[in-house]
Amino acid sequence: MLFEGIVITRVPFKERDLIVKLLLRNGLLGSFYIYGGQGGGKRHKPTVFEPGSMMKIHIRETKTRNMEGTELLVAQEYSRTWEAASIRYNIQAFYLICLYFELVMKIAPSQQGQAETETTETEGIFSVVSNALFYLENSLIQNKFEASQQLMLFMVKLLFHMGIMPDTDHCGYCQANLLESDAVSFVPAEGQFSCKNCFTGENEKGFLLRIKKGYQTRYQDYPDLLGTNFYESDRLIQYFCHQFHLKTMDLRSYKLLFKS
Ligand SMILES: [Zn+2]
Repeated sequence: MLFEGIVITRVPFKERDLIVKLLLRNGLLGSFYIYGGQGGGKRHKPTVFEPGSMMKIHIRETKTRNMEGTELLVAQEYSRTWEAASIRYNIQAFYLICLYFELVMKIAPSQQGQAETETTETEGIFSVVSNALFYLENSLIQNKFEASQQLMLFMVKLLFHMGIMPDTDHCGYCQANLLESDAVSFVPAEGQFSCKNCFTGENEKGFLLRIKKGYQTRYQDYPDLLGTNFYESDRLIQYFCHQFHLKTMDLRSYKLLFKS
């Protein structure tokens, strides 16, 4: 059986083996045991299981278990089909992908014990993450890397694919047209925008327009998403965490990214 997916985490095991978690094409997380996956040996081969790499793995019929008793598929052959070569040399870009992976780990179901038919609604996660990695790498190569732009686009696409995009057309309280209101506020805890009559807060009309723009922007057109900033990306992360009952404090890369 052949699996294809993105390396999300890797944990060294014994002297030369690895346990890796992949985000598979169907949007589920799969755990694999890779004999000799750490590389090394006489020729000091480097590992090909860098976080963010796209891998193809053929598995053996036999399975093994990790320390928590989770069933692991044992790789027979593997090859890397894509790698995030520039990302790992840019600390901010690297923290970004760590944050993406941390969020994915919280929301993507594990493939163990899943029936094939249940997976269609998670497929969007894979497409969001693979596009995010590819165009993040692309932005570094092209010298167009802007962390807040990448993060904003990722959060908007992820929220959309999870089906929890806030309504950007109508006030969550009175249904008034938000574009006609000269001031709007976002209320992350309620997951909605409000017109100026229903809620008084900072005017976030620009934020609203950038979410709409992010939603319409195809990943390959990422340079078109202008005026992004970390404050607004953070608003979306707060909202996301609220939806999934997570705390940003528990996300390690969040702290690194927002304090660097
Ligand atoms: Zn209203």
